[in-house]
Amino acid sequence: MICEQLNSIRQELPENVLLVAVSKTKPLEDLQIAYDCGQRVFGENKVQEMVDKWEVLPKDIQWHMIGHLQSNKVKYIAPFVSMIHGVDSFKLLEEINKQGQKNNRVIPCLLQFHIAQEETKFGLTLDECCHILDSDEFLALENITIAGLMGMASFVDDAAQIRSEFRNLYDSFLLIKSNYFRLNDNFCQLSMGMSGDYSIAVDEGSTMVRIGSTIFGSR
Ligand SMILES: *Cc1c(COP(=O)(O)O)cnc(C)c1O
Repeated sequence: MICEQLNSIRQELPENVLLVAVSKTKPLEDLQIAYDCGQRVFGENKVQEMVDKWEVLPKDIQWHMIGHLQSNKVKYIAPFVSMIHGVDSFKLLEEINKQGQKNNRVIPCLLQFHIAQEETKFGLTLDECCHILDSDEFLALENITIAGLMGMASFVDDAAQIRSEFRNLYDSFLLIKSNYFRLNDNFCQLSMGMSGDYSIAVDEGSTMVRIGSTIFGSR
Protein backbone atom coordinates (compact mmCIF):
# COMPACT_ATOMS: atom_id res chain seq x y z
CA MET A 1 0.00 0.00 0.00
CA ILE A 2 2.65 2.54 1.05
CA CYS A 3 4.75 1.87 -2.01
CA GLU A 4 1.75 2.01 -4.36
CA GLN A 5 0.68 5.31 -2.85
CA LEU A 6 4.18 6.74 -3.18
CA ASN A 7 4.41 5.71 -6.79
CA SER A 8 1.06 7.16 -7.71
CA ILE A 9 1.93 10.50 -6.07
CA ARG A 10 5.32 10.51 -7.82
CA GLN A 11 3.60 10.05 -11.16
CA GLU A 12 1.38 13.01 -10.46
CA LEU A 13 4.08 15.43 -9.34
CA PRO A 14 6.07 17.49 -11.84
CA GLU A 15 9.78 16.71 -11.86
CA ASN A 16 10.75 19.92 -10.07
CA VAL A 17 8.54 19.23 -7.05
CA LEU A 18 10.13 17.40 -4.12
CA LEU A 19 8.02 14.94 -2.15
CA VAL A 20 8.52 15.09 1.60
CA ALA A 21 6.96 11.93 3.06
CA VAL A 22 5.45 13.03 6.37
CA SER A 23 5.97 10.06 8.69
CA LYS A 24 5.04 11.59 12.05
CA THR A 25 3.41 9.14 14.49
CA LYS A 26 4.12 6.25 12.09
CA PRO A 27 6.21 3.23 13.18
CA LEU A 28 9.71 2.48 11.89
CA GLU A 29 8.42 -0.39 9.74
CA ASP A 30 6.32 2.03 7.69
CA LEU A 31 9.29 4.32 7.10
CA GLN A 32 11.43 1.34 6.13
CA ILE A 33 8.83 0.29 3.56
CA ALA A 34 8.85 3.79 2.07
CA TYR A 35 12.66 3.75 2.11
CA ASP A 36 12.76 0.42 0.30
CA CYS A 37 10.42 1.98 -2.24
CA GLY A 38 13.07 4.64 -2.91
CA GLN A 39 11.89 7.43 -0.61
CA ARG A 40 14.78 9.37 0.96
CA VAL A 41 13.12 12.55 2.24
CA PHE A 42 11.01 12.31 5.38
CA GLY A 43 9.18 14.95 7.42
CA GLU A 44 8.64 14.82 11.17
CA ASN A 45 7.13 17.39 13.52
CA LYS A 46 8.47 16.28 16.92
CA VAL A 47 12.12 16.54 17.88
CA GLN A 48 12.35 13.41 20.02
CA GLU A 49 10.56 11.27 17.47
CA MET A 50 12.80 12.50 14.66
CA VAL A 51 15.94 11.79 16.69
CA ASP A 52 14.74 8.30 17.61
CA LYS A 53 14.01 7.48 13.96
CA TRP A 54 17.24 9.04 12.68
CA GLU A 55 19.27 6.90 15.09
CA VAL A 56 18.05 3.59 13.72
CA LEU A 57 17.12 4.19 10.08
CA PRO A 58 19.59 4.38 7.15
CA LYS A 59 21.88 7.40 7.23
CA ASP A 60 21.18 8.56 3.68
CA ILE A 61 17.68 9.71 4.71
CA GLN A 62 17.15 13.47 4.61
CA TRP A 63 15.16 14.58 7.63
CA HIS A 64 12.94 17.66 7.34
CA MET A 65 11.57 19.26 10.52
CA ILE A 66 8.12 20.46 9.49
CA GLY A 67 6.54 21.25 12.85
CA HIS A 68 6.81 24.19 15.16
CA LEU A 69 10.26 24.04 16.70
CA GLN A 70 11.13 25.32 20.18
CA SER A 71 14.49 27.08 20.45
CA ASN A 72 15.65 24.90 23.33
CA LYS A 73 15.28 21.75 21.23
CA VAL A 74 17.22 22.84 18.13
CA LYS A 75 20.41 21.34 19.54
CA TYR A 76 19.08 17.78 19.31
CA ILE A 77 18.50 17.88 15.55
CA ALA A 78 21.21 20.35 14.49
CA PRO A 79 23.81 17.63 13.78
CA PHE A 80 21.75 15.94 11.08
CA VAL A 81 18.58 17.82 10.04
CA SER A 82 18.40 18.58 6.29
CA MET A 83 15.90 21.40 6.43
CA ILE A 84 13.81 23.24 9.02
CA HIS A 85 10.48 24.33 7.52
CA GLY A 86 8.69 26.21 10.25
CA VAL A 87 10.97 29.13 11.13
CA ASP A 88 8.86 32.07 12.19
CA SER A 89 10.98 34.19 14.50
CA PHE A 90 14.40 35.78 14.54
CA LYS A 91 15.05 34.21 17.93
CA LEU A 92 14.64 30.73 16.47
CA LEU A 93 16.81 31.59 13.48
CA GLU A 94 19.52 32.83 15.84
CA GLU A 95 19.42 29.58 17.81
CA ILE A 96 19.56 27.45 14.66
CA ASN A 97 22.56 29.51 13.58
CA LYS A 98 24.25 28.97 16.93
CA GLN A 99 23.72 25.22 16.78
CA GLY A 100 24.82 25.17 13.13
CA GLN A 101 28.05 26.83 14.22
CA LYS A 102 28.60 24.27 16.97
CA ASN A 103 28.15 21.49 14.43
CA ASN A 104 30.27 23.21 11.84
CA ARG A 105 27.51 23.28 9.24
CA VAL A 106 25.05 25.56 7.47
CA ILE A 107 21.44 24.60 8.16
CA PRO A 108 18.85 25.29 5.43
CA CYS A 109 15.70 26.97 6.77
CA LEU A 110 12.33 27.94 5.34
CA LEU A 111 10.52 30.98 6.71
CA GLN A 112 6.96 30.07 7.60
CA PHE A 113 4.26 32.48 6.47
CA HIS A 114 0.83 32.83 8.00
CA ILE A 115 -1.53 32.44 5.04
CA ALA A 116 -4.58 30.71 6.56
CA GLN A 117 -7.69 32.35 7.97
CA GLU A 118 -7.33 30.36 11.16
CA GLU A 119 -5.89 32.15 14.17
CA THR A 120 -4.01 29.17 15.54
CA LYS A 121 -1.49 28.69 12.77
CA PHE A 122 2.05 29.86 13.30
CA GLY A 123 3.82 32.04 10.81
CA LEU A 124 5.08 35.45 9.78
CA THR A 125 3.37 38.24 7.92
CA LEU A 126 5.18 39.74 4.94
CA ASP A 127 6.06 42.79 7.06
CA GLU A 128 7.48 40.68 9.87
CA CYS A 129 9.52 38.68 7.38
CA CYS A 130 10.96 41.81 5.75
CA HIS A 131 11.76 43.18 9.19
CA ILE A 132 13.90 40.12 9.91
CA LEU A 133 15.60 40.12 6.51
CA ASP A 134 16.36 43.86 6.73
CA SER A 135 18.18 43.61 10.04
CA ASP A 136 21.95 43.68 10.45
CA GLU A 137 21.62 40.87 12.96
CA PHE A 138 20.19 38.66 10.25
CA LEU A 139 23.03 39.43 7.86
CA ALA A 140 25.52 38.34 10.49
CA LEU A 141 24.15 34.78 10.63
CA GLU A 142 26.58 32.56 8.75
CA ASN A 143 25.43 29.09 9.72
CA ILE A 144 21.91 29.23 8.33
CA THR A 145 20.70 29.71 4.81
CA ILE A 146 17.19 30.79 3.86
CA ALA A 147 16.12 28.22 1.29
CA GLY A 148 12.65 29.65 0.72
CA LEU A 149 9.20 29.93 2.26
CA MET A 150 6.65 27.55 3.75
CA GLY A 151 2.95 27.86 4.51
CA MET A 152 -0.22 25.97 5.34
CA ALA A 153 -3.59 26.82 3.82
CA SER A 154 -6.79 26.84 5.86
CA PHE A 155 -8.39 23.46 6.60
CA VAL A 156 -11.50 24.11 4.53
CA ASP A 157 -13.28 22.45 1.63
CA ASP A 158 -13.40 25.66 -0.36
CA ALA A 159 -10.85 25.06 -3.13
CA ALA A 160 -11.02 28.69 -4.24
CA GLN A 161 -10.01 29.90 -0.80
CA ILE A 162 -7.13 27.42 -0.60
CA ARG A 163 -5.97 28.45 -4.06
CA SER A 164 -6.01 32.13 -3.18
CA GLU A 165 -4.02 31.49 0.02
CA PHE A 166 -1.38 29.56 -1.93
CA ARG A 167 -1.35 32.29 -4.56
CA ASN A 168 -0.67 34.89 -1.87
CA LEU A 169 2.24 32.83 -0.63
CA TYR A 170 3.62 32.47 -4.14
CA ASP A 171 3.41 36.25 -4.59
CA SER A 172 5.30 36.75 -1.32
CA PHE A 173 7.88 34.23 -2.48
CA LEU A 174 8.51 36.18 -5.69
CA LEU A 175 8.66 39.47 -3.82
CA ILE A 176 11.11 38.21 -1.20
CA LYS A 177 13.16 36.55 -3.91
CA SER A 178 13.48 39.73 -5.95
CA ASN A 179 14.01 42.05 -2.97
CA TYR A 180 16.45 39.98 -0.92
CA PHE A 181 17.70 36.90 -2.74
CA ARG A 182 17.83 37.86 -6.41
CA LEU A 183 21.41 36.65 -6.81
CA ASN A 184 21.19 33.87 -4.25
CA ASP A 185 20.40 30.45 -5.71
CA ASN A 186 19.80 28.97 -2.26
CA PHE A 187 16.46 30.74 -2.07
CA CYS A 188 14.44 28.53 -4.41
CA GLN A 189 11.96 26.45 -2.41
CA LEU A 190 8.30 27.01 -1.79
CA SER A 191 6.98 24.38 0.63
CA MET A 192 3.21 24.21 0.32
CA GLY A 193 0.68 21.43 -0.11
CA MET A 194 -0.41 18.49 2.07
CA SER A 195 -2.55 15.40 1.41
CA GLY A 196 -5.76 17.36 0.97
CA ASP A 197 -4.49 20.25 -1.13
CA TYR A 198 -1.22 19.40 -2.83
CA SER A 199 -2.65 19.40 -6.37
CA ILE A 200 -3.77 23.01 -5.91
CA ALA A 201 -0.42 23.88 -4.33
CA VAL A 202 1.52 22.44 -7.26
CA ASP A 203 -0.71 24.41 -9.64
CA GLU A 204 0.18 27.55 -7.71
CA GLY A 205 3.94 27.09 -7.81
CA SER A 206 4.89 24.74 -4.98
CA THR A 207 8.33 23.14 -5.22
CA MET A 208 7.95 20.95 -2.13
CA VAL A 209 4.87 19.06 -0.96
CA ARG A 210 4.56 17.56 2.53
CA ILE A 211 2.34 14.51 2.28
CA GLY A 212 1.52 12.19 5.16
CA SER A 213 -1.85 10.47 5.35
CA THR A 214 -2.16 9.82 1.62
CA ILE A 215 1.05 7.78 1.80
CA PHE A 216 0.92 6.19 5.25
CA GLY A 217 -2.80 6.19 6.02
CA SER A 218 -4.69 8.31 8.53
CA ARG A 219 -3.16 9.06 11.90
C1 LIG B 1 1.16 16.60 9.40
C2 LIG B 1 1.65 17.66 8.52
C3 LIG B 1 1.63 17.51 7.12
C4 LIG B 1 1.04 16.30 6.43
O1 LIG B 1 -0.34 16.25 6.58
P1 LIG B 1 -1.23 15.19 5.76
O2 LIG B 1 -2.57 15.83 5.71
O3 LIG B 1 -1.21 13.94 6.55
O4 LIG B 1 -0.64 15.02 4.41
C5 LIG B 1 2.15 18.52 6.34
N1 LIG B 1 2.67 19.64 6.89
C6 LIG B 1 2.72 19.82 8.22
C7 LIG B 1 3.30 21.08 8.75
C8 LIG B 1 2.21 18.85 9.06
O5 LIG B 1 2.24 19.06 10.39
